[in-house]
Amino acid sequence: MKRIDLTNHRFGRLTVTAFAGSGKNGNAQWKCRCDCGKEVVVDSYLLRKGYTKSCGCLRRERGREVMQTNDRLIKNRAKVANLLQVDGTSVVSIMKRRRTNKSGVTGVSYDTRSKRWVARLMIRGQYVLNHSYLTFADAVKARETAVKVNLGDILAERDDLAAYEG
Ligand SMILES: [Zn+2]
Repeated sequence: MKRIDLTNHRFGRLTVTAFAGSGKNGNAQWKCRCDCGKEVVVDSYLLRKGYTKSCGCLRRERGREVMQTNDRLIKNRAKVANLLQVDGTSVVSIMKRRRTNKSGVTGVSYDTRSKRWVARLMIRGQYVLNHSYLTFADAVKARETAVKVNLGDILAERDDLAAYEG
């Protein structure tokens, strides 16, 4: 079988420099110089089909790139998380709580539109308290006061108070 001379042909980063004999599979083997300077012997089939395009440095670099990309993603994620910190409170966790309509305190929720804390207390279908506050603490205090005034101290301790929620 006539051998195709691949000398001086270029395959990716590899330049064929010399014939290096026949492999066990009968294929011609070619000595190649990689752009990085390393010399390798590659099977002609792998060269012509484009399976081998470097001494192996290409794959190593790609692997490194993937790792660097991951590093960047992790750093960006941390940056975004920091941006979402408002007064030491994670906006992300506020949003999560908001999704379940809970601020952690019954009757107090965060209104993303007005960026204020809303305290509500509903008794027999009527809001006895429905007011927004700049801080979470104020909203909680207002809610607690409203509960005490309207339902008394004993009721304020009861878990089933949530039943009054609108
Ligand atoms: Zn190389």
